[in-house]
Amino acid sequence: KKVLTDRINRIEVSATMAITAAALKLKAEGVNLADFGAGEPHFATPRHIKDAAIAAIEANFTRYTAVAGVPQVRQAIVDRHAADFGSQYTVDECVFTTGGKLALFNAVQVLIDHGDEVILPVPYWVSFLDIIQYAGGVVKLVESKESENFRITAEMIAAQVTEKTKAIILNSPSNPAGSIIEQADLESIVRMAHERGIYLLLDETYSYLTFQGDIVSGGSLLDCKEHIIILGSLSKTYAMTGWRAGFALGPKQIISAMSKLQSQSTSNAASMVQKASIAALTGPQECVAEMRANYIELRDRILEGFKTIPGLTCTTPQGAFYVYPNVSAFFGKGGIKTASDVAARLLSEAHVVVVPGEAFGTSEHIRLSYAVSPDVIDEGVKRMREFFAKLA
Ligand code: PLP
Repeated sequence: KKVLTDRINRIEVSATMAITAAALKLKAEGVNLADFGAGEPHFATPRHIKDAAIAAIEANFTRYTAVAGVPQVRQAIVDRHAADFGSQYTVDECVFTTGGKLALFNAVQVLIDHGDEVILPVPYWVSFLDIIQYAGGVVKLVESKESENFRITAEMIAAQVTEKTKAIILNSPSNPAGSIIEQADLESIVRMAHERGIYLLLDETYSYLTFQGDIVSGGSLLDCKEHIIILGSLSKTYAMTGWRAGFALGPKQIISAMSKLQSQSTSNAASMVQKASIAALTGPQECVAEMRANYIELRDRILEGFKTIPGLTCTTPQGAFYVYPNVSAFFGKGGIKTASDVAARLLSEAHVVVVPGEAFGTSEHIRLSYAVSPDVIDEGVKRMREFFAKLA
């Protein structure tokens, strides 16, 4: 008898995690790495958030809570989202999860049956694909153009809609390209989907890391609410990746189903993390603006650095903390054929950690997370420049 199920065999280990593992191995051997691999803030979690968790532990707030999270944390999420984006949700339309990834995973599990089609723009965050496939869904990709900053329009998405389309996943600002869906495009996509009864899973993990213009959310389109599920995370906004704090906002029926699933798997997210999240969401928000300002400086620094590497081209990201340079100019040089070759050789020869674009559905790019110190950017760019110069 076979050991593993078909559904586990349909998915891969997260590519970013695989790269992180390879990098950790080199690090353990004492190699000094310029690490642009993992997508997480280099900042410490702000003091008042840590203090709230410590106080929760000291007060013995260490037991099971309601599966969907205590009402106060859900209220804090609802209020923050309403204040910042103009959405209107109730506590019953909110579930707190052990990280944003679990919110996405559970939303897909409760919405997608075998054979249901899910539309996904390229480049996509690695986990979208595997999470859909794990649920038995069929992914329908929508290609975008680098020359148009990876823009996605309602027409492009509508072209992929069939009678089997159940959902569309959008992620703006995006991982990996840092691209943004403009308000007008977002509105037309949401309305097009709503009119056709298609659900929108809006991944807002990076919504506070938008570098120009207003931050927009499909959650403000109140008349389309019935088809919108917002997936959020405190990981990047508040430098809380390790805490595992995420949430979903959406129609009560879907949120209840997600809570039911959670009741048979993780149960509640950690009790003290819920308290820390309340502090994050209701406390001072200056830390968010400060970190955003810092990311803009780091983005500009790495883009300036890239200009000193002949052959490397890169769109200007409008949000998140990733750059997605095109490395196709180096294909055919020094035995390099693919972006994966570039990533592997950068790691082994230049000790620079990047993630190959194949993991995000494109063949000519590598992704670098610039949520690192300026020194790492300078050193990494120098190593890349030397590496690529040797190839030529
Ligand atoms: N969505 C996107 C697009 C991401 O890049 C990530 C993390 O990298 C997540 C969701 C999940 O974040 P977390 O599970 O840490 O909340």
